[in-house]
Parts: sequence; C-alpha cells; structure tokens
Amino acid sequence: MACSTIGIVGIGPRGLSAMESLFLEASRYKSMVKVLAFEPFNYPGAGPVYDLGQPKTNWLNVTTRALDIPAREEVSFHDFHIPYFPTFQEWSGYNAKKLDKEAIDKFPLRSELGQYLHDRYLSITAVLKPLGLYNLIKREVTTITFTNESVSITDSGDNSHTVDEIVLCVGHQPTYQDEQMAHWLKRSNDSAELQLFKMPYPVKMFQDKLGNTSRPSVGVRGFGLAMIDVCRALSEGVGGTFTVMDTMTRKMVYEPSGKEPDRIVPFSLDGLPMAPKPLNRKIDEHYVVTDEELTNYVAFIDNRLNSTNTINSPEFLIKAITPIIAKKFTQLSNLTIPHKLSNQGLETIIEAWLLDSDFEHDLILPKQLSTKTLLQKFVAMATHTTKISLDYVIGHVWRHCQPTMYKTLSFAPLKDEVIAKVIDLDERLKRYSYGPPVDSLQQLLALSDVNLLTFDVVNNPDVTATKEGWELSKGEESIHVDTMINSVLDTPKLSLVKSKLIEQLREDSIVQPLHNDLAIETQKDGTLISRSEHLKLPISVLGRLAKGTLIGVDAIAECFGVRSKFWAKGVFHRVLNAETTTQTSASKPT
Ligand SMILES: Cc1cc2nc3c(=O)[nH]c(=O)nc-3n(C[C@H](O)[C@H](O)[C@H](O)COP(=O)(O)OP(=O)(O)OC[C@H]3O[C@@H](n4cnc5c(N)ncnc54)[C@H](O)[C@@H]3O)c2cc1C
Repeated sequence: MACSTIGIVGIGPRGLSAMESLFLEASRYKSMVKVLAFEPFNYPGAGPVYDLGQPKTNWLNVTTRALDIPAREEVSFHDFHIPYFPTFQEWSGYNAKKLDKEAIDKFPLRSELGQYLHDRYLSITAVLKPLGLYNLIKREVTTITFTNESVSITDSGDNSHTVDEIVLCVGHQPTYQDEQMAHWLKRSNDSAELQLFKMPYPVKMFQDKLGNTSRPSVGVRGFGLAMIDVCRALSEGVGGTFTVMDTMTRKMVYEPSGKEPDRIVPFSLDGLPMAPKPLNRKIDEHYVVTDEELTNYVAFIDNRLNSTNTINSPEFLIKAITPIIAKKFTQLSNLTIPHKLSNQGLETIIEAWLLDSDFEHDLILPKQLSTKTLLQKFVAMATHTTKISLDYVIGHVWRHCQPTMYKTLSFAPLKDEVIAKVIDLDERLKRYSYGPPVDSLQQLLALSDVNLLTFDVVNNPDVTATKEGWELSKGEESIHVDTMINSVLDTPKLSLVKSKLIEQLREDSIVQPLHNDLAIETQKDGTLISRSEHLKLPISVLGRLAKGTLIGVDAIAECFGVRSKFWAKGVFHRVLNAETTTQTSASKPT
C-alpha cells in the first residue's frame, strides 16, 4: 500500500499539534503517512513566539495553573511507539494540589514554554525520523502549486518538493504597514539618524543598538503586552532591579543600573491600560464559572444559533453571559464597590457596557481617570486591596467563559459581519481577559515612580515626525523621543498579509478572503473552501488565517485543541478513500 506524504508548512505549536494528531489517527486507522515539514526557525515546535533564546524579560500572560496544553497520549503501532508527553504543568513540576490557594500565581517565561514545546517536538521526531516517516526542510515555503492531485512546493532555496496533501500552519505572518508606520519607515530609511524599530521582537535588536547610544528617549507605540516586554527589556533587561516591597500588593521599587534610556514614553489610541489577572487561585475563584453555569451559557447560545431568527449582532453572546456576571458580582458582596442594585439591575448595566464601551456608571471604572490611577486601582482589585469594579468582574468572568465560547462559536452559522463584531467585542475585552500578571503592572508603576517611564502623553497624542525624532504632544504636554519602537503586533487580516506564500496563493485565487478580508474560508477539518465547487484542492489551513479558528485563535492552548484532530481525521478519510478508489478501479474488468 502506497504511503501518502503530507506536507506541513510551519512547525510552530500548531504544526506540532497537527503532526501529533496525524500519527494518533494513523494508529487508529491502521494506516501510515509520511510528513514532510517546512520550518526555517531554529526551534521547531516552539516557533519564534516561544523562541528558547529570548531573554527572561519576555513573559507569558497565562499562569502555569491555567496553561491548559493537553498531554500527548502514547501512540502504539505494530513495530514502534510514540511516547507519552506530559502536560506543561507535569513537565515543569507544578502541582496545583500541593500549592496553597494563596500562593502567588506563576507566569512562565516564553522561553520556558518554548523549551517544553521543542522537547515535545524532539520526542516525536526522534521516533519518526529514523523510520523515514518524518523529514524537515529548514526553509521557508515560497510557492505552492497543484498538479494531478499532488502538490508542488518550492522553498526559499528554490528547491522543489512534492506531497499528496499540504496544511498551512504558518501562524503570524508579516503584514503591510499602516499609513503611520509606512510614513515613519520611509523617513527612517532616508535618514540615518532616526532610530525606528518596526517590531518589538527580538528585544535584543533594540537593546544592542540602544546600548551604544547615550541615553536616548524612547517612544513605544502600543500599550499592551508587547509594550510591557519592551519596558522590561529596557530596565531589568539592562541590569536594573525590581524589589518587591509589599508581598500583599506586590508593590515594587526599581533600582536603575544606569544603562536604561533617559525615558520610556508609551502611547496608544486610547491610553487605557490592561487589567491584571487576579493574584492567586483564591482570588481568581470568585470569577470561576461553574459547570452548571457553563452548561446554561452554551444552551443559551446554541438556542439562539438554532433559532429561525436571524442573528445580526453579538447581543446573543452578551445575554448569555450577563446573568453569570451579575451573580458573581453579587456573590463578591462587600468586596465590590458598594451598591444597592438587584441582579436584574446589574444585568442592565452589564449589558449596556458590553454593548457600548463608552457607557458610564458608578460601578465602572471611569476611563477619564489618569492612566497611573487606573493601573493602581486595577492592581489593587487583583490583589483584593480595594473595592472591585463591575468592569473588572465582567472581564474576568468573560475570561473563564472564553474557551467555551470559542468552542461553541467555531464554525457556527453566523454571518461574516456578525463574526467580525464578535471578534471586535472579544478584542475589546482582551484588555481584561488577556491581561498581564500583577507584577508586570507593578513594574510599570515602579518605573514611572523613578521617572524612567511616563504616562503623560499615553492617550492618543499627536505624533509628529521631526528631523531628530518624534514629537509626542497631548494638550500642554509635549515630549521629544529620538527612538521609536513599534509594539503593535500584526493583525491576522488576510488582506493585509504580505508574505510571499500567502500573496502567491491569494493571487492564484487559491485562498479567498471573506467579509472584511478577515480570513480564509475552510471546512471544519481545515480544508479550503474553493471558489469553484468542483475544485477540491488538497490544501488545508489551521490557525489564525483560517476562518473557523478565527475566534480565539491566538491562545496557545487553542493550538492543541480539536481543530488539528478534525484535520487529521479528514486526512485519513481522504487517503483511505483515494486508496479504495484506486483499488476498485484497478480491479475493474477491462
Ligand atoms: C509576541 C507574541 C506573544 C504571544 N504571547 C502569548 C501568550 O502569552 N499566551 C498565549 O496564549 N498566546 C500568545 N501569543 C499567541 C500565539 O499566536 C500562539 O500562542 C501560538 O504561537 C500560535 O502558534 P502557531 O503555530 O499557529 O503560529 P506561530 O507560533 O506563529 O508559528 C508558525 C510557524 O510557521 C513558520 N512559518 C511561517 N511562514 C512559513 C513559511 N512560508 N514556510 C515555512 N514555515 C513558515 C514560522 O517560522 C513559525 O515557526 C503570542 C503571540 C505573539 C506574536
């Protein structure tokens, strides 16, 4: 029996998960496939996001406790087996049962998770490679074409390869710059004096360059997680020290090394800071959604999805979660901002705020507060040292519902406009649900206490590119920076992607974007939905560019979810079908 070769383009976390699922299915179907993988990066399995070589100042935003990457089951074949590989918690020696609920949650380093993912990759390929079932081409794929039901691949070294099927697990792709960045880039290309870093990673890139400059002032475009990594790289990363002064609140002081920039000046379109994750399991338990609540939540959503009434907005999602949030807020009792509202009264406010980010109420932290005050209040809420606001509760209950929401909405029969609005809502709430550790925000506050970081122009300043740098002005305040680091990460919008491979597939009309050019349309098993009904190309897409995985695609645990399993099952259906068809036609009398 011929053994099909499956090409996997990109062996980051999702490519690894796809390969694991493939061999699990191979054992179930008692059929075999070979994998030809393409990955230019040094650490397959980890990919650049979880680069093992990145500094310790790059942290994950998920606690070790919540890092839900399932273990790999042992897979047995007639004459070999792929070993079991533990969960991240087991691998890193974390034992939740042994830990006090009040112990401060740990957030792994991104390099540590990278080591786990790379080890996991090595443990499967160590078995497959000697058997000739796995081969890695350490190059980027630049072109894919289809001939006679097989796939021709060209890599960046101009070498050609042929496989029977291909899956793209290419994750983060470079995108076209927005107008502001394009303008800055042009200027920095024209002037050797302007220091512009168009992306925040690897942080070593700007650490090395700035280390040779005498105390530059640094603007940081963006005010999210990557900005925090940038600030840490420019402080602790150049030898400074954070010391925790209060174990309850995690308040810190910063001792500079003298190698820091003169000033770090972050800014964004709204200047609103992220809200931290609760400090420990005990505090987080207030936001945990019970199984019964989740069942009701899913039932409500399913009911709406199956109803004959057209869904035109994310209101059905809001209505599903609102009663849960109201209940949690009430149960927090005297820990919240005082109020006299019934659950129903609370529900009205929750709904109003979820529908309109500008909605104001005494229970919701006003956006008009200074950034420093907002940070201080959020940190105090996360450590239970101040009264908790309703928006904080909404964000963290939302976080606990997120995996269920992502699962329930995957491939739901929603109009593209509604999917886009759901994504917008989830993105808005990421300021809370994807929030950093308390320590990260205490570090920002400590840097601002020693005037190394300023929030003076953080909220949507006018930015003027000058000969010597940039002028950031807000009201009376104006700050000059001579270096700019862009920490706004590329969006997953298909229409904006500018990688050679995706552009070629787009130009050849192989991939087609949907509404707003958001993503590639795929079946549930990742196979591409082609423009022509009769054209069934042997290509699948998993990850942030695929429509079915668009909602919630960016969490690491989602990489090891059901989608790669659906894809692997689909591969074997097709492989076995093809074999049956070949055998049947071969045995037909002529
Ligand atoms: C800076 C950053 C920090 C993040 N932090 C977190 C976090 O703390 N928690 C969390 O849950 N998620 C985080 N994420 C989200 C992240 O997207 C996922 O966790 C995960 O990396 C997605 O895995 P992936 O394999 O789909 O994509 P990627 O990790 O992007 O991997 C894709 C792989 O494909 C390869 N590739 C790309 N194009 C080609 C080509 N043409 N040919 C061959 N190979 C190719 C790349 O080299 C790469 O190894 C972060 C993302 C970024 C960018």
